[in-house]
Amino acid sequence: MRFNVDEGLAWIAEHPEIRDVLITGGDPLLLSDDKLEYLISKLRQMPHIEMIRIGSRLPIVLPHRITEGLKKAIGGFHKVPVWINTQCNHPKEITEKTAKAVYDLLSCGINVGNQAVLLKGINDDVDTFRELHQKLLRTRIRPYYVFYCEPAPGIDHFRTPVEKGAELIRDAIRGHTTGLAQPMYVLATNIGKIPLMPDYYIVDKNEKEYTLRNYKGEITKIPNIPE
Ligand SMILES: *Cc1c(COP(=O)(O)O)cnc(C)c1O
Repeated sequence: MRFNVDEGLAWIAEHPEIRDVLITGGDPLLLSDDKLEYLISKLRQMPHIEMIRIGSRLPIVLPHRITEGLKKAIGGFHKVPVWINTQCNHPKEITEKTAKAVYDLLSCGINVGNQAVLLKGINDDVDTFRELHQKLLRTRIRPYYVFYCEPAPGIDHFRTPVEKGAELIRDAIRGHTTGLAQPMYVLATNIGKIPLMPDYYIVDKNEKEYTLRNYKGEITKIPNIPE
């Protein structure tokens, strides 16, 4: 089997500070079951590896890839869990076949989350944004991240203002539906991810009390108790 990962695996094996391995870039689930099994089993043999993550759009765009063979290759009870984070950006991308594929992954012990990208004209209105996250939960997929759409050639028409994602969490998710539907909105920068969450909660603070606002604009106060 030609599969050029041994150098990378050897490097991870020599670095006990690595707890978490994320396999992504291209789409790892396009690898054969044999290659995936090789990679996952080698990682699982390293005592310092606590979890393995796979970034793949295939549960959404090619749910037929979730086969018995794949489940055998990467699933099953093991002290090192596998997470698959998929990318679904619109509720219409989720079909019955995706729902069955996700159920099959969960049934063999693989956790499934979602990382979406905020796209102007696609998912940047309140109704679509809420429906996307509620439908992910109905499909047993836990919303994880929503990314700001980075500048890249040819996609300028999809980019929203930076604040848009936080506004959508404020106006479509928080308080309007369960907190399980709430992703973290992040901006990927050269110094790492910056969370940009809604910022309306603390209206005022003094020595006596905090003044707090909820998603409906209602105001309440709680005492500021000294530590
Ligand atoms: C940052 C990042 C991840 C991993 O994020 P964690 O905070 O480690 O969970 C996965 N995918 C993409 C595209 C990222 O930018």
